[in-house]
Amino acid sequence: MKNPMLDTQGLPAFSHIKPEHVEPAIDSILAENRACIDELLNNNSHYTWDNLIYPLEVMDNRLSRVWSPVRHMNSVINSEALRAAYNACLPKLSEYGTELGQNEHLFQAYQSIRNSETFTRLDIAQQKTIHDALRDFRLSGVHLPAEDKARLKAIRQELSQAQSKFEESLLDATQAWKKHITDKADLSGLPESALEMARQSAQSSDLGGWQLALETPLFIAVMTYADDRELRREIYIAHNTRASDQGPNAGCWDNSEIMERILALRFEAGRLLGFANYAEKSFATKMAESPQEVMDFLTSLARRAKPVAERELEELRSFAITKLDIDDLQVWDIAYVTEKLRQHRYALSHEVLRSYFPVNTVLDGLFRLVRRLYGFNIEQRHGVETWHPDVRFYEITDARGVVRSQFYLDLYARERKRGGAWMDECVDRMRTKDGVQIPVAYMTCNSSPPVGDKPALFTHDEVITLFHEFGHGLHHMLTTVDYPSVSGINGVEWDAVEMPSQFMENWCWERDALDLFAKHYQTGERLPEALYQKLLVTRHFLAGIQMLRQIEFALFDLRLHLEYDPNKGARIQQILDEVRDTVAVIKPPAFVRFQNGFAHIFAGGYAAGYYSYKWAEVLSADVFAAFEEQGLFNQEIGQRLLHCILERGGSRPAMELFKDFRKRKPRIDALLRHNGLAA
Ligand code: ZN
Repeated sequence: MKNPMLDTQGLPAFSHIKPEHVEPAIDSILAENRACIDELLNNNSHYTWDNLIYPLEVMDNRLSRVWSPVRHMNSVINSEALRAAYNACLPKLSEYGTELGQNEHLFQAYQSIRNSETFTRLDIAQQKTIHDALRDFRLSGVHLPAEDKARLKAIRQELSQAQSKFEESLLDATQAWKKHITDKADLSGLPESALEMARQSAQSSDLGGWQLALETPLFIAVMTYADDRELRREIYIAHNTRASDQGPNAGCWDNSEIMERILALRFEAGRLLGFANYAEKSFATKMAESPQEVMDFLTSLARRAKPVAERELEELRSFAITKLDIDDLQVWDIAYVTEKLRQHRYALSHEVLRSYFPVNTVLDGLFRLVRRLYGFNIEQRHGVETWHPDVRFYEITDARGVVRSQFYLDLYARERKRGGAWMDECVDRMRTKDGVQIPVAYMTCNSSPPVGDKPALFTHDEVITLFHEFGHGLHHMLTTVDYPSVSGINGVEWDAVEMPSQFMENWCWERDALDLFAKHYQTGERLPEALYQKLLVTRHFLAGIQMLRQIEFALFDLRLHLEYDPNKGARIQQILDEVRDTVAVIKPPAFVRFQNGFAHIFAGGYAAGYYSYKWAEVLSADVFAAFEEQGLFNQEIGQRLLHCILERGGSRPAMELFKDFRKRKPRIDALLRHNGLAA
């Protein structure tokens, strides 16, 4: 029997990939690669791009094409068997990666190419590939004594498993909590769309009535609309104690120990490599110079935002007292009171807005925007194999009709699918001896699914999220770099990666852009001007509170990795409390364990890097300001952004690319203005 995973010619054969294929496929590829590396090193004495690096890139590319669908399916159609197969491969992949990074012979071969006279004849992307590789050899400990190398390898393996475990426990804890409701009156305040979601949730558990669950759209709806304060409290606690020692499932999937372990391992790895802590190590691959530079940046932003946030909170408090009879505003009231105040002040209901964002119109408008800015066409292609009937497949073509890239779009929240939204790489762009391998992306959201016979209607926030992820997607898909190590988002400094994504969010606030994609699902009428004006004034509504929240997460993450002390342990709660004491205006009760579900930093790649959102927002706001200055749909600016940044991927440092586009260094003014914080 042929293993369908090993066929990497076309798109992944999702319906044929079974959990039992995963481990054998990875085993066989890793064995082949190992043999191939030995051969490459031994067959040559004089190393060049063509006889060493190109074949290595080809090998790497094949491995990532095999692994990518597994990683993806594990996130979007998780099952026991797939999870086991995925986890069985993690230590093998980690071991292989470290082995490569610690291979002295390989390191010397790269260095000899770097030092040869042919180096200067390589193009910029090739040079950057070699530059990044040499850096990563050092970050893998190639220079360390054998004993330290072995320890580092063990740490990396344990870390990859621990991070996966964190994610699993969070998913299990999220799915474990349900609340069955038989009396509709208990759900008073919930809009029809949320009631319908709750009804569908009950049906999927073979129940009548309604069922509440912790998946994002329903959770947010209850927090925002449920009149029953006790119900809001209950679901808030369930959500904010997931995978912890508190709340309704206290101790069942507790992530606390694994978080301690993750931080200890990261610290130890940083130390072995000669850094003072993990944060310092993490900054070796970032755009920001040092943790101190970022601490100063965040602290100064917090200073601007705090007085604003304090005023906003006072408004919420007094509104809650006078209009809602809530005398002691609690964390589970914030979203509810916010929505009521918003309706009171602006008479803007998110439920009304939703009617203007039906799925197909939004997608069509998004694609038209891409055409106007960059000149590409996007069209759906049918008959392509996917992992779920809801998933769509698209192609991006240039003006001559040449296919530039392809993507899968998986829009709706459902069970067994990881929460949040993200873009992931299915295939990287690469020029091979047979021609160009075009990039393919997975675009994943957890938006409100269609309910009843209506099309899916998105909230404005969900539209923003879709645009955000699409920005990542364009960065990956529009690249013209030929070497996968630095094509698309590869090789881009982590704290610059959110630039193209956050840039896209801006369009969701512009009248002319909204006219492309905001149309009533029944009448086709564009967003009425009065409604648009209301939306606009709410853009800065509670901007101070939101800004402080992001800064709180970023400071917490950074300090956690900066201040780890092996004698004292991670002190997770203590550091979080200290951060809140300095920046937060809203402090949750002591039992809240939001951190136990903070997958960005414990399971994802944002460790000592959560600040990247704010850091990159300086860049994205400044890039968008170029359009504000020159005309929103100015094609020349669009082409410049395409050529200076989006196509360039990680082939040059982010700061250089930015300066190419803007003809100057980044300025913070646009970020402050967009957030209503300009002096
Ligand atoms: Zn993002």
